[in-house]
Amino acid sequence: MGRVAIVTGGTRGIGRAISETLKKAGYRVAANYCGNVEAAQRFTEETGIPNYRWDVSNYAECEAAIAKITAEIGPVEIVINNAGITRDAVLHRMTYQMWEDVIHTNLTSCFNMARLVVDSMRERGFGRIVNIGSINGQAGQYGQVNYAAAKSGIHGFTKALAQEGAAKGITVNAIAPGYVDTDMVRAVPPAVLEKIIARIPVGRLGRAEDIARTVMFLIADEADFITGSTISCNGGQHMY
Ligand code: NDP
Repeated sequence: MGRVAIVTGGTRGIGRAISETLKKAGYRVAANYCGNVEAAQRFTEETGIPNYRWDVSNYAECEAAIAKITAEIGPVEIVINNAGITRDAVLHRMTYQMWEDVIHTNLTSCFNMARLVVDSMRERGFGRIVNIGSINGQAGQYGQVNYAAAKSGIHGFTKALAQEGAAKGITVNAIAPGYVDTDMVRAVPPAVLEKIIARIPVGRLGRAEDIARTVMFLIADEADFITGSTISCNGGQHMY
């Protein structure tokens, strides 16, 4: 039987593509979501992948969900920390709530999920954690001090945890997507989006499947020598 993988925010956008790609490859997937029940139900009807509702920023909810998934599907060997939100504003208009929501949903969630699976991964001598960062965590972005800080934090978190997990068969990597055609990017005003696409050397937005294929590469058993890396998947928009 395939390894058990949790994909947070796994019912829509990039997460949905990750969930579907993993299932097709034989992994046993649990897809998380938070508020959009309709999308989650449609996702499960269309893919046959079970959905689990919890808020990844809430430690107790993560704990209960992981216990449920472990009981229903099996011990969790792979976690894709994909759930994320934006609450954009320039700093002089950003509220504390906008800061807190983004930091907790995008970054604290990685701590919550990793902390709650790490003991079992260490015992089993195997684990794969992939954290979805962002080009805007690498380069910064006007109007996104909260999001850029959270995503940049993910990249540091990844490198630190990779060092701790290495001797126990646990790899921890990050993917930094560029602009990918999902609901999150569809919320960007068309004129701004046009300017963004003009700066992408391959000449198009990313597709959710581009990120899903990168996840597949990183979670393979054979990828055990790749840890602490951040793979940019951005059409050449930002290289460093
Ligand atoms: P979407 O907005 O399309 O989907 C977000 C997913 O995250 C949804 O399934 C949503 O659940 C879930 N989610 C949001 N908040 C929570 C929460 N508190 N607890 C559990 N689940 C939650 O986003 P994308 O697919 O575009 O983005 C996925 C990831 O990729 C994010 O981390 C994002 O920051 C990152 N990224 C995206 C880029 C892009 O261009 N799209 C570029 C770079 C990075 P629900 O359906 O219930 O709302």
